[in-house]
Amino acid sequence: MEPIVEIQNITKVFKKINAVSDLSFSIHKGDVYGFLGQNGAGKSTTMRMLLGLIFPDSGRIIINGQEFNNGKRHLLRHIGAIIERPDMYGYLSGWDNLKIFAALTDRSIPATRLHAVLEQVGLKGREKDKVKTYSYGMKQRLGIAIALVHEPDLLILDEPTNGLDPQGIADIRELIRSLSRDHGKTVLVSSHLLHEIEQVATRMLVLHKGKKIAEGMLSDLLNPNEMLVQVGVIPA
Ligand code: ATP
Repeated sequence: MEPIVEIQNITKVFKKINAVSDLSFSIHKGDVYGFLGQNGAGKSTTMRMLLGLIFPDSGRIIINGQEFNNGKRHLLRHIGAIIERPDMYGYLSGWDNLKIFAALTDRSIPATRLHAVLEQVGLKGREKDKVKTYSYGMKQRLGIAIALVHEPDLLILDEPTNGLDPQGIADIRELIRSLSRDHGKTVLVSSHLLHEIEQVATRMLVLHKGKKIAEGMLSDLLNPNEMLVQVGVIPA
């Protein structure tokens, strides 16, 4: 089966920093693909390239079989992301926020679709409440609903557990699991720490200083695990 996203040997250099070096990987339908690495490993830079916010200096990004470049921005409709949290309108309801953000790309999203994504992220019943009454985790869910509203083939979540307490982290984990298991979503999720995503990721890639140092299923990565301790994704 053709991958949804295929990254071939991409490199991105900022001034003299090799943010991403010769990185290759593929994400297939149904994967929950974990992207692991410490601060500065190159996770966000890779995700930003996948979203066309910046472009690689070399290498190719292929989305659903087509090479992605500046002239092919329509391919981005296959990808939904919360990479930089949307600034939501606190005095408006969750429903209104969802409608406003959905309309930025498509004005004709039917109400049934909005209800469906609220259901998927577990916000059904709270959509009439003002967003300022939402917890941080609920805002995260609404951000995910906004990313899902156009039915992307791939959902990108950049460190969705950042800043959450243990319960919030468990909730996001369960949400990712349910999006994958119950709604067939394909997800790319990044984290600093293995334990935050090991229970949900079907495959994982470990990035260190812009380079891929390991990839595979959990059992492949843990055997042996010294390297994961060395690069900080397992606490020493
Ligand atoms: P974090 O978990 O802190 O977000 P990350 O794995 O997402 O880390 P990146 O943000 O991709 O890492 O950063 C990779 C490297 O590229 C870092 O050394 C960072 O300082 C550098 N970098 C990223 N964006 C820029 C930029 N716009 N200009 C200069 N350097 C940058």
